[in-house]
Amino acid sequence: MLQKTIASPVSLEGIGVHSGKMCRIKILPAPEDYGIIFARTDLTENNIIPADYKNVSSTTLCTRLSNEFGASISVVEHLCAALYGLGISNAVVNVEGDEIPILDGSSEIFVREIMSVGLKNQSKARKILKIEKTVRVENGEKWSSLSAADHLEINLSCDFTKKSLKTAPFSYVFLQDSFAKEIAPARTFGFWEDLKYIRENNLANGASLENTVVFDSQGRALNEGHLRFENEPIRHKILDIIGDLSLSQYLIIGRYDGFCSGHELNNMLLKKTIGV
Ligand SMILES: [Zn+2]
Repeated sequence: MLQKTIASPVSLEGIGVHSGKMCRIKILPAPEDYGIIFARTDLTENNIIPADYKNVSSTTLCTRLSNEFGASISVVEHLCAALYGLGISNAVVNVEGDEIPILDGSSEIFVREIMSVGLKNQSKARKILKIEKTVRVENGEKWSSLSAADHLEINLSCDFTKKSLKTAPFSYVFLQDSFAKEIAPARTFGFWEDLKYIRENNLANGASLENTVVFDSQGRALNEGHLRFENEPIRHKILDIIGDLSLSQYLIIGRYDGFCSGHELNNMLLKKTIGV
């Protein structure tokens, strides 16, 4: 499989879920072996932040990347999932501000906008990480693992019974053709009862029913209209996993299994698999 970049630049803007302020990004083509690189255009120096799992500085509610000078970008996972899902491994993402716009809480708009300008095949082969032995990480009862397989396959179970939300385990075999339809539209979700804590801690000033599916204490979505999938929450967790695994900068050939795993375990898993 060949490396790919975006065919021409794309600009996007929208509210930042943490700051509640307008954020702007521009995705630009990049040469082979460049990787995905964020550039904070509002900073005059030391503003380059590679999308690398070693640069993950926080995993509270989202994945944040920071460089050695302290410049950071938050909420990278849905954009990174879109790029990975489309097979793009080289791009520059100019960011005005310190977070990526949340848009509708999924990867759908990123995918749509990128596809509107198209992809460009490059001549070098994509870097591949073939998992050969099982690596597992855990935190309390949560765990995740990578093991050998012929393709990237993600198997996840979640337990939200305390929140009255039923979620059956879900398996997704990663294919660039199916990502846009099966995973990219699944939106961020949260629980009404957690909103107080989030608001009091100044964590999600831009969160709204426009960008988050909010479930009440009976497990019912408060958003108007239907869920995009009957199992939209677990599909969104898989979207997040794809975004987090993309920070390996490899096309991963292996099987991911997880129970209640999130951004923190995904990062621990890459560190244990590839090295710190
Ligand atoms: Zn997410």
